[in-house]
Amino acid sequence: MTLSIFEPRSEHIISVAVPVPLRQSFDFLLPITSPENEIKPSVGARVKVPFGSRKLVGVILSIKSDSDFPENKLKPAIEILDQSNLFDDALWTSLLWLSRYYLAPIGEVLDAALPVALRQAGELMPNSKKTWALTEVGRSRSLDELNRAPLQLAIIKLFMKNSLLTADDFKDTATSWRQAVNALVEKGWVEETQAQPALAQRSLDKHDFITLTEQQAVAVESINQSIGQQRFSATLLHGVTGSGKTEVYFSAMESVLAIGKQILLMVPEIGLTPQLIERVKRRFSEPLVVMHSGLNDTERHLAWWHAKQGNAKIVIGTRSSVFSSFADLGLIIIDEEHDGSFKQQDGVRYQARDVATYRAKQQNIAIILGSATPSLETFVNAESGRYNLLSLTERATKVALPSIELIDLNMQPTNDGLSPAMLEAIKATLSKEKQVMLFLNRRGYAPVLYCKDCKQAAKCHRCDSHLTLHRRVNRMRCHHCGYEGQLQTRCGSCNSAEMVDVGEGTQRVEDAIALRFPESTVLRIDRDSTSRKGELAEVLEQARSGKADILIGTQLITKGHDFPNVGMVGILEADQGLYSTDFRASEALFQQILQVSGRAGRRGDVGRVFIQTNFPENRFFEKVIKHDFIGFAKDLMAERKAAQFPPFGCFALIRAESPHQAQALQFLRKARHDIQPSDGVRLMDAVPAPMERRAGRYRAQLLLCSNQRSALNHTLALWLHLIATDNAAKKLANSVRWSLDIDPLDHF
Ligand code: ADP
Ligand code: ZN
Ligand code: ZN
Repeated sequence: MTLSIFEPRSEHIISVAVPVPLRQSFDFLLPITSPENEIKPSVGARVKVPFGSRKLVGVILSIKSDSDFPENKLKPAIEILDQSNLFDDALWTSLLWLSRYYLAPIGEVLDAALPVALRQAGELMPNSKKTWALTEVGRSRSLDELNRAPLQLAIIKLFMKNSLLTADDFKDTATSWRQAVNALVEKGWVEETQAQPALAQRSLDKHDFITLTEQQAVAVESINQSIGQQRFSATLLHGVTGSGKTEVYFSAMESVLAIGKQILLMVPEIGLTPQLIERVKRRFSEPLVVMHSGLNDTERHLAWWHAKQGNAKIVIGTRSSVFSSFADLGLIIIDEEHDGSFKQQDGVRYQARDVATYRAKQQNIAIILGSATPSLETFVNAESGRYNLLSLTERATKVALPSIELIDLNMQPTNDGLSPAMLEAIKATLSKEKQVMLFLNRRGYAPVLYCKDCKQAAKCHRCDSHLTLHRRVNRMRCHHCGYEGQLQTRCGSCNSAEMVDVGEGTQRVEDAIALRFPESTVLRIDRDSTSRKGELAEVLEQARSGKADILIGTQLITKGHDFPNVGMVGILEADQGLYSTDFRASEALFQQILQVSGRAGRRGDVGRVFIQTNFPENRFFEKVIKHDFIGFAKDLMAERKAAQFPPFGCFALIRAESPHQAQALQFLRKARHDIQPSDGVRLMDAVPAPMERRAGRYRAQLLLCSNQRSALNHTLALWLHLIATDNAAKKLANSVRWSLDIDPLDHF
């Protein structure tokens, strides 16, 4: 492009976010195109640019007339790929915020927010099935002309029965149908058409209309009021397990659909929520898409497209659905908002719940966060009045919450993880033809295989961790790095054959239960028993339908399932979270216990919950027994406040790992030295991670704390700038794998 000096300088430079791990944007000149091919540049459109020796697809961040770089150094972009911003306004603002707040490279953020099909130069509209139709020419010509081309003739005859045909329709004519169709296209008889992909229309299944309980009605009215105001509001819907939160969501959804707007319903894991999705499908006839990790790239692209076009009125999705573009979003709901899966733990690290809340604010709409055991973060926001708090304290089915009893393991020895009292309770429950659910968050047979002679345990050679014994397959597995090996019959250290398995996993409990209750059907639900695609849904349905008498499972069974016939829940081990070094462990434990307890006695008689523990006098259990989440949360709040821990203080964690033991720590020590803390920012020591070696890499971490988020953000931004620009710091940073986690959930 040449510019006459008499013209005002036009906006001919674009600043582009390129998908590389660099915290900066890159300037390019507008592409050189002929006027008829020209696409006007627009912010948020994809653009293909030269990048080193590669060509990358980035996103235009801004269009400007000046660059900090001399203009003759700027390269022209290759091609602008979209006519307009791919992201809706509120989403665009949220993504820019995400990049600043989490200090994540903007190119990687935008890349993560696009469906894979669009990360390369793919067409914006997903491929619908290619279709062909007869042209005017084709319709007017005599079929005699095709006498010598029988296949072409056969194809034209097909068009006489059906005006639009796809590859499927041609397949039966001959394997070489494609050539014949191409020949017809060349002659101008047939043309390719591209239909917009359609979203399957659904008709409403029958569903029972429910009369809301008084508490539900109050909640619905309050939420509808917020929705009616068409401005930002955040509501914590704190409802005990079985209180009918879903009905409240549904009423809110109805009012939003009535004004023609779209809804984003976020759930922890699609595989664990087949019932919720079924309920939405039964209740609403509006077009709906489900976004989850099981979709292939094409399906994901299609779902994204339908949300963006406004075709899909309801979008149900996991964490990353927070990045969907919408034509007219009217409501966001996050079910089980406390769930850890909303936090992205690698790549671009973000808390989807917080991104969703920011987005709702930008969009001026309501967001509902629902849980029986809210995260402390959300609870504090509700306590302080920033969020509305709506409580459902009773079960919708009018059945009381289960009674929770402790089994003191100091008085009762366990056998295969089961105390006599627990066995007694199981027997009593089965005799009433109720299901039993046993919860143990450890899969495999035994977590330790131990040598009687030298007292050494079988260890993973790549991690600082024991190997778990898996009896079903007679293998040893590492649950941290995925290593798998043969069952060890001899000690690796002293070659003794006296190896004993210690402790229990779900497999051992399954065996023990099967032995003691031979008449009962036992169903184990963990990652090992549900690894095939679709298997988890099958197993959950078996559990729900009541076919299995005793369910044994890991945290997979704690999530919001509604198993109507479970009369009793046994928690085999609750002590691990009590004295953990992780300050969030007790919060997670409380949530887990209340969630799994919530599976008991949802219909009919009041359910019973038994917890085996060595520490029955711990204050923690006082609150558990009373289902007193609020009391527990207030205690926790006081503790965290005193210590200035989140959500009262802000944390950021720099993690590093390297195959060489010293290197990760060395990098973090240097970082600690380089970081210039702003006022109020505290730097801890660089330390090895609690499990230092994992998958053959040594890991270390450096924690930063502050009670001022902006100060922490500023401190880190300065450091990031330093390691991007200072050669020595850069070199050290490149010698290890490191990452930055703002508001980390896990401290290892
Ligand atoms: P939550 O998500 O709060 O644990 P659910 O929404 O799964 O609770 O509801 C628990 C059960 O109560 C479901 O079977 C649901 O159909 C039923 N339920 C919800 N609301 C009502 C109501 N108003 N009257 C009768 N049953 C209800
Ligand atoms: Zn030994
Ligand atoms: Zn390992």
